[in-house]
Amino acid sequence: MVVVAEDDEANRVATGRFFERMGYDVMGAADGPAALQIVASTPVDLVLLDLGLPGIDGTEVLATLRKSTEVPVIVCTGRDTEEARIRGLDLGADDYVVKPFSLPELEARVRAVLRRGAVQVHDEALAYGDLVIDRTSRKVTVRGEQVDLTRREFDLLAFLASAPGHVYSREELLAHVWGSTEAWQDRATVTEHIRRVRLKVEHDPNRPRWIQTARGVGYRFDAGGADSGNAGGAVGEDGS
Ligand code: CA
Repeated sequence: MVVVAEDDEANRVATGRFFERMGYDVMGAADGPAALQIVASTPVDLVLLDLGLPGIDGTEVLATLRKSTEVPVIVCTGRDTEEARIRGLDLGADDYVVKPFSLPELEARVRAVLRRGAVQVHDEALAYGDLVIDRTSRKVTVRGEQVDLTRREFDLLAFLASAPGHVYSREELLAHVWGSTEAWQDRATVTEHIRRVRLKVEHDPNRPRWIQTARGVGYRFDAGGADSGNAGGAVGEDGS
């Protein structure tokens, strides 16, 4: 599976079709969070990553990916400066192509990267300070102690934690974690599950460090929760 993370739709579709014709399975991602979600939930062989992505910038997507996976990444960018190249490679990109590039040239690089990474090691654990979320065994530990989460609680936590900093509305969480809509399930379901997950993983559920409330919008996972402590707080929740 090759993920084409590119916000320019024409570009994304053309690149995807080209790789499909070359025999690859392709998934498109129009923004940073979508790219992270695909890698978190699907076995991916390679990510073509545009650096200028909405939602979560490509460099941040790359940094986040490198915390949890060795998946090969080829950065595709219009930022043709030495600095941007070096930054991309520093962050752990396997290769770098500057727009405009030809699709056959890109495919040759993809083949080269896939050959190099013939044996790829997937580390499915997300680790943020003393919180570790292992997506293979579906186990969560806090300060080395295992925490018992229900299947849905685990899915919710893993989903939020795989795209740190991104705010998800309750509607989006219903869609992604429950595979449901408001027509089927009340948004309060999300609020209640967030409350339970906080009770289980947060040191102080009333002043959560990891799962932050974006007032009136939804929730986001704070990757810096380990060092920064609680900034916004969620005392009183958000009144929905
Ligand atoms: Ca772009």
